[in-house]
Amino acid sequence: MSRTWVDLAYLIAAVLFILGLKGLTHPRTAVRGNLIGAVGMLLAVLVTLVDQQVLGAGILGYSLVFIGMAIGAGIGAWLAITIRLESMPELVALFNGLGGAASFVVAGSYVSAMTSAEIPLDTSFATALSGLIGAVTLTGSLVAFGKLAEHPLMKTLPKITNSTVTNAIVGGVTLLLMFVCAISRSNDVFFWLLVIASLGLGYCLTVSIGGADMPVVIALLNSYSGLAAAATGFVLENNVLIISGSLVGASGLILTQIMCKAMNRSLTNVLFGTLGPTGETKDADEVYQNVKATGPDEVAMLLDVARRVVIVPGYGMAVAQAQHAVRDLANHLIAKGMEVEYGIHPVAGRMPGHMNVLLAEADIPYELLKEMDEINTSMEQTDVCLVIGANDTVNPDARQPNSAIAGMPIIDADKARTCVVIKRSLSPGFAGIPNPLFAADNSLMLFADGKQAVLDILSALKEG
Ligand code: NDP
Repeated sequence: MSRTWVDLAYLIAAVLFILGLKGLTHPRTAVRGNLIGAVGMLLAVLVTLVDQQVLGAGILGYSLVFIGMAIGAGIGAWLAITIRLESMPELVALFNGLGGAASFVVAGSYVSAMTSAEIPLDTSFATALSGLIGAVTLTGSLVAFGKLAEHPLMKTLPKITNSTVTNAIVGGVTLLLMFVCAISRSNDVFFWLLVIASLGLGYCLTVSIGGADMPVVIALLNSYSGLAAAATGFVLENNVLIISGSLVGASGLILTQIMCKAMNRSLTNVLFGTLGPTGETKDADEVYQNVKATGPDEVAMLLDVARRVVIVPGYGMAVAQAQHAVRDLANHLIAKGMEVEYGIHPVAGRMPGHMNVLLAEADIPYELLKEMDEINTSMEQTDVCLVIGANDTVNPDARQPNSAIAGMPIIDADKARTCVVIKRSLSPGFAGIPNPLFAADNSLMLFADGKQAVLDILSALKEG
């Protein structure tokens, strides 16, 4: 295959990636977008295989490549089928880490193959960058995965007491090694020393960040994995790798920015600050003095006479897999002439769009899903707000300047005439702080698993 045809095919693949990303921006077009992106990737892989074989650029043989692809595709398909939606950020973390590892391994093998020749300076810099970013991405992603999955191993890993100083020292050493590695041109010893230092840096940078901020960190690491791939693209002079890596890098950064904005925090605050109870946060016992518990029958009676109901789903609804039961409840209320809408917080759950995907899976019409700003305008006209497994995203404490989540935009569930919160206990959400909504005068707590509670309310409504 001539260079022109290869580049043309790469160009088509790049256009398909961009169209795929565009499709992913809306739930209605997301599946098609995913498919378009996958077709682009298939084209890129096939062309690379043919190109390498014809040009004799060192491919070891198709059998090895296909065995590798079959193993990878098998593991990928198994993970995609078995993963629960609320565990998706953990899976993304693993994918990012493996992407970073692939980038530095490819760059490393290039350096090893070139020890007798002098690598051009620009390629040498790209190799060093790939080693640095790829290795940071690997350990950073593994730590992020461990924290989100609450893996027991995380408790045994060394903690860093003065993280700013440690990060500065490890970061300084890594940068120095990167320059030495780049300038030495073809020295693979420096390259692997750089990789070891960068693995340490990835660990140090991530281990001190709280679990609640891990989804943001994962979005950032996603961006890093793209940048590492782009750097490797420069090493291999592979245009499609440069383009796809840059697209991942840019979209990861945009996602990070969206998540920070939705939590009203800066990226530096996420990476170097802390989220958690401040000295002024009230004690849970003090906040929860006037909690009123309720049962499915009482909630059914409230819903029976309501005209407008807003359902606010949170991470707990995903854990309970209550989306189908919620749809049945909403359909029952709509059939009785009630107005039902869903209030979706941009960071409800464990990643942006989490709730939209979950509700779409249960065939809940998109028109009923309202974004936070829109639903908040009608909260005071809402008879019953049903909060299912949400906590931080409806915590009115965010309006207090001294709160640990001060300034985080919330869904104003407390402004509804009656608010019913379904969760199993008074335990805190991701941010780890008490929620005054649970003890508000207009709030009732239904302590139960999200799915069971909704099913019980529906049966009570049908019986009543
Ligand atoms: P939270 O994590 O604040 O709270 C979830 C609640 O669900 C818990 O309090 C828990 O209470 C309850 N729960 C768990 N399992 C069940 C179950 N089976 N049935 C009923 N309830 C259950 O969730 P939110 O969605 O409100 O907030 C998301 C959090 O994630 C925020 O802190 C946000 O900042 C953070 N975050 C999200 C990002 C994103 O992109 N989505 C990015 C970064 C951070 P109990 O154990 O008592 O049942």
